[in-house]
Amino acid sequence: MDLKISHECPQCSAPVVLEETDRLLQCPYCRVRLFVTSGEAFRYWLPPSGKLAEEMIFIPYWRFKGMVFSCMLQKTEERIVDTTLVAAPLKHIPVSLGVRPQAVPLRYVTPELGRYFFLSHNPFNQVFHRMDTRIREIETLNIKTSSFSDDEVLHRAFIGETVSLIYLPTYIRDGKLFDALTDAALTEIEPNESIDFVRHRDWGLRFLATLCPNCGWDLKGEKDSLVHFCGNCNSTWMASASGLKRIEFSIVPDRKDSAIYLPFWKIRAETPPLQLQSYADLVRFANLPKVIRREWESKEIAFWVPAFKIQPKQFMRASRTAIMAQIETRKGEPLPKERIFTVNLPVQEALESIKINVINLAVPRRKILSVIQEIKIHPLTVELVLVPFREASHGYIQPEMHLTFGKGLLHYGRNI
Ligand SMILES: [Zn+2]
Ligand SMILES: [Zn+2]
Repeated sequence: MDLKISHECPQCSAPVVLEETDRLLQCPYCRVRLFVTSGEAFRYWLPPSGKLAEEMIFIPYWRFKGMVFSCMLQKTEERIVDTTLVAAPLKHIPVSLGVRPQAVPLRYVTPELGRYFFLSHNPFNQVFHRMDTRIREIETLNIKTSSFSDDEVLHRAFIGETVSLIYLPTYIRDGKLFDALTDAALTEIEPNESIDFVRHRDWGLRFLATLCPNCGWDLKGEKDSLVHFCGNCNSTWMASASGLKRIEFSIVPDRKDSAIYLPFWKIRAETPPLQLQSYADLVRFANLPKVIRREWESKEIAFWVPAFKIQPKQFMRASRTAIMAQIETRKGEPLPKERIFTVNLPVQEALESIKINVINLAVPRRKILSVIQEIKIHPLTVELVLVPFREASHGYIQPEMHLTFGKGLLHYGRNI
């Protein structure tokens, strides 16, 4: 689903339509460029065809688009999921929004909706397990030979490029709940059903100037990028609900002409109860055919995760290859002049992927099966690393990492 959001330009009030993945509002009329940022998750609502009635109730749905990894006894399965799932504990209402969000552009939830009731939502973590069951049901019905194995899933990770809330406006008439988009009756309201409401409050929607907070220059970055760069004072910025936040970056020194820099999240983390801090730990854990040198015991390792969207199989392959390589990075270098590929995978999602990476690194796998539920990821430091790739006929190559991406793959990743 490619969803659109319509909004009035905060500067000139002209109508602007954004893609769901856009993090920049670019007004075609007054040409202002603003970061769009939210608190925990972006909140949208579906505008009804008619007017908003006084007594409307907004029902929350979680919107998830991204990758799902399921770790099983022998292997890890991965796939792409693009769906919505009801987030309020209300009986007999549609499980998903279906095609509704594609039919009309969404709107941001703004203080104008202050007088309406919003149903409280269950946390994404609680809902997504049901989501997966639901997806399995749908796929098993549609596909004769299910692509799922019957193995028990030991750990599942949802790595979302988009995790947001979409509200469906409804109203009550004659004891029934009606969908305000279609005016179809959804369900009878059960007399004893307890419903939790919240009023609109500040959920962190902000439009921020794209100026470097340090020196005032125009920040550079693609429209779906979470990170923007200041070429003047050599700094890197991420939009957050509390404003632009400076983040650390380092680069991999380049020896030859590079065509493009691909961003990775480099995360140092503790992984209790597993001991996976040094390169020597990694060699033992992954059972690499290497003789451990003494200095490897004190050589700290980091987890590397692509900071851009890509197919799930390639995402894991790239992550694993980069973790194995542990190549040298340098701080304080000037930002590269070459193109920096968009940073569109949030760091929180990269953190979610570390546990899957750890499980996949274990050789033999059975040695960690008994502790899978207990493995925790405690991040210590996070930085953005810009990694130079050379252009070849078949793709982009990073010789030190031994990592190649097909050109189509990077392009395709933008549309996952
Ligand atoms: Zn404007
Ligand atoms: Zn600056």
